[in-house]
Parts: sequence; C-alpha cells; structure tokens
Amino acid sequence: MSVPAGIGELRSRFASVFGAAPDGLWQAPGRVNLIGEHTDYNEGYVLPFAIDRTARVAVRVRPDSTVRMLSTFGNQGLTHADTGALDPARARGWTKYPLGVLWALEQRGLAVPGLDLLLDSDVPRGAGLSSSHAIECAVIVAVNDLTRAGLSAQDMVLATQRAENDFVGAPTGIMDQSASLRGAAGRAVFLDCRDQAVRLVPFDAEAAGLVLLVIDTKVSHSHASGGYAARRASCELGAEVLGVRALRDVGLSDLEEASGLLDAETFRRVRHVVTENDRVLRTVELLEASGPRAIGALLDDSHASMRDDFEISCPELDLAVETARHAGALGARMTGGGFGGSAIALTPADAERAVRDAVGRAFTQAGYAAPDIFPVRPAAGALRLA
Ligand code: ADP
Ligand code: MG
Repeated sequence: MSVPAGIGELRSRFASVFGAAPDGLWQAPGRVNLIGEHTDYNEGYVLPFAIDRTARVAVRVRPDSTVRMLSTFGNQGLTHADTGALDPARARGWTKYPLGVLWALEQRGLAVPGLDLLLDSDVPRGAGLSSSHAIECAVIVAVNDLTRAGLSAQDMVLATQRAENDFVGAPTGIMDQSASLRGAAGRAVFLDCRDQAVRLVPFDAEAAGLVLLVIDTKVSHSHASGGYAARRASCELGAEVLGVRALRDVGLSDLEEASGLLDAETFRRVRHVVTENDRVLRTVELLEASGPRAIGALLDDSHASMRDDFEISCPELDLAVETARHAGALGARMTGGGFGGSAIALTPADAERAVRDAVGRAFTQAGYAAPDIFPVRPAAGALRLA
C-alpha cells in the first residue's frame, strides 16, 4: 500500500513531473458500506460512510486541450489524451477514471480545458472500498473548482455515475460517489436511492470506544459479475410478479403473501432486499437514538441474510465474520457486492488485537491467503486541500 504523500511532497512531485506548480490540490475518500447491500438498484436505502483513505490530485489547467496524467502508484508512466477526442474505446487502465469524468462533463455541455494531473491514492484497489470513485470524485471537484462550473453535489454524483456507466463500463449506482462527495467526519450517509435524498447520521465509532475494522479477504471469485447480474434479474422478476415498481415498495408485512406467489429462490432474494431495507432504517434509528454500540445485531443479521437468502457470501467472508464475532466484535458482515472482497467488524477498541489475531489465525488454519486487516474512520467527503 502506498504511503500517502504530504501536500508539500505532492506539490513538488507535480512540479518535477510537469515543470510548473499545480493550480491546486483536491482529495476525495473511498467508502465503506455500513449496511444496505443490493438495495440500491431496488430503489431502497443504503448507509455508507466516507473513510480516511483518500485519492488526492494535484491539477494545473493547460492553455491547450492536452491531458497529461500520472499516478504515484506503479510505474505506468505519463499518459496523454486530448479533451477534444475522449473515447471510451481508447482509454486504458486507471486513466479511464479521470478521462471518464472529463467526458461526462463534456456530455453535460461543459467546455473542459486541457489539464496536467498527478494522482496519489492510499485507497486499497479492488478491495470493495471504491478506489475508482475516490479518483473520479477528486477529479470532478478539482475540475468544478478550476472551471467555476458551479456543479452541485447532486450534479457531480450524476456525472460520475455517467463516467462509470458509459465510459468505464461498470454498471454502478450512486452510492459510492454520494458517500465520497457528501460524507463527513463521524457521520454515515443515509441515502434513499429512489429520490436520492441524503441525510447525515451520527456514526462516531471512535467516541463510542469502537474501531471499525475492514477485513480484506483478497478473494475475488470469478462468478462475481454473473452473480451480480443474476441477483438483479431475480429482483426485477420479484418486483414484476408482485406488481410493484421496485422491491422498495414491498414491506415486511407483504412477505407472507409474497412467499405464495414466488418460486422459492426468488422469494429468498426478495426477502433479503425487503429485510435489508428494514435493517437500514433500524440502523439509522439506533445510531440517532443510542449510538454505534447498538447496531451490532443488525450487522450480524445483514450478513446472515446475504449468506442464506441472497447467497452472495463465500467461505472466506463467512470465516472472517464468524471469527471476528467470536473474538469480541459487536457485529460483523460482508460488505460490497459479494463473492469476495471485504468484511467489516465493529469492534470494541480493547478487542481489536484479539480480533485481528483470531482472524489471521483462522485464515492460516483454513489454508487461505492472509487477509489485510485495517481500521477505517468515518471521515470528510471530497474537498480542496490547497
Ligand atoms: P474498487 O473501486 O472497488 O477499488 P475498481 O476495479 O472499481 O475497484 O477500481 C480499481 C481500479 O482503480 C484499479 O484497477 C486502477 O485502475 C484504479 N486505481 C485505483 N487506485 C489507483 C492509483 N492509486 N493509481 C492508479 N490507478 C488506481
Ligand atoms: Mg470501483
């Protein structure tokens, strides 16, 4: 994992690469979804938070239409593009993310200038913490400031979604960038995916004597994208048979009747979404009324629902969750789309060591590769650093 460069370091690195000082520096965080999985495309509720791992960009506007980009990660060298000829088919590697944002802004009618851009990110890649949206959000806040485009947070949410969907080619919703753009320290972002309304909810784990541990299993199962598409299809079928616009419109009290109308598998998929939406609402209530110590059981129930009803967990995630819980976590669940990726464990600070050790040991005993285990804090959303 790269050590985040300080502001001064990023500035001087930029100057040595591009031969001039940047116009400014911006950062945007990755995110963890606290609860609300596979509810977004069912027009339901999610509760992610911005984390203290960020992508930072140093940017300078150029007088021409050339875009030059470099990341401190890897040794991929300087990449060139032209704002007058942005083409999804030609963009390669990580530059799809910044170029996708520029493209999406052009699609909105914004005249995007040429840029020099240096990226430095300490958001782990491909761990389900949305390192890609961290890049996109850092770039869009930078371009919004530099061009004085006056985009609202909501405009930026939609433009980064367009970038991911139509330029990068990833069928993602609005959760990740909403958390990255709108998160705040000690808060989770309660997002209604139907009307896209956002409410910040207190989630100061540290003040409650807790640590939120991410357990990155480093597993990525090959059926992840097929599994995702199949789950979406089941949800659409369920909504159609039940005669609703989306599963958001099915309540807990409708489940009994639904069980008579749906085949057994579709019913289990529907039950996950319906109960998960309810768990998000109850988590918000508990966080507002009692604080983070109260939500452990809801995290546990969420995991069981994904494992048994939605069937998107895997042995590594189940082991991480079970072991963390036995070692003292108040609650734990897989987070993200499933079939691999990360679990989270809400852990009393004095049990952190025990949880880390127990999970590491259990993975060794099971013959799994060592997981990466690290704490994350609910942190500020995208901002200008300098
Ligand atoms: P996630 O968003 O869950 O981390 P994605 O596959 O959507 O996973 O995005 C990961 C991709 O983002 C990487 O493959 C890489 O192209 C890009 N990326 C993330 N961080 C960096 C970085 N520091 N430098 C270059 N590219 C990065
Ligand atoms: Mg991503």
